[in-house]
Amino acid sequence: MSEIKIVSFDAEGTLVTPDFSYAIWFEAIPQRYAQRNGIDIYQARKIVEEEYQKLGDQRLEWYDIRYWFDKLELGAPDPLLDKCQGRVRYYPEVRDVLSSLSERFTLVVASGSMREFLQRLLRDIEPYFTRVFSSLSDYKQLKTAEFYLSMCQAMKVQPKQVVHVGDNWQFDFAASSEIGIHAFYLDRKKQGDCPNSLENLTQLKAYLLG
Ligand SMILES: [Mg+2]
Repeated sequence: MSEIKIVSFDAEGTLVTPDFSYAIWFEAIPQRYAQRNGIDIYQARKIVEEEYQKLGDQRLEWYDIRYWFDKLELGAPDPLLDKCQGRVRYYPEVRDVLSSLSERFTLVVASGSMREFLQRLLRDIEPYFTRVFSSLSDYKQLKTAEFYLSMCQAMKVQPKQVVHVGDNWQFDFAASSEIGIHAFYLDRKKQGDCPNSLENLTQLKAYLLG
């Protein structure tokens, strides 16, 4: 581990709880849809959630709030994103871990969320990060092996000099491992039995700082 230069974090589910996204996708969007179409919130939720399910999380558009605002004819997303700013929550160990690791390593964010989300999600912890990569906004792709390679190139490091941690087995663990990044799967509920899994980021700090 002595060769590690960069520690890369996923954002949602890793640094930031799902609260903000939940507020956007399952509260604010259905509310706006209900108002615009003169229907009640229950009907609106059902329609909107069916549309989400039809598309599925393997498609890029799933993560694209502008796509959904166009499709559902909801106007401009930014005021609604601002309205939900107060719902952003960090996991309890995040500030301590970032503060300790930032003394030894360069920290970056590698997220599948779009920049409009990341600006708000990371607002209070942004100074810890040298760079924030959005696979969707910067590279128009999900978090693939190719995306992680582009990130390494942008940071001028080899994959073996990078640690990445995130809570999605496919997009964080498998895709980054594929190119030789030291990947950790964050399994906060400890559901699986994946090697290299962590229950929280304090375990990552212990591993990296000894
Ligand atoms: Mg995540």
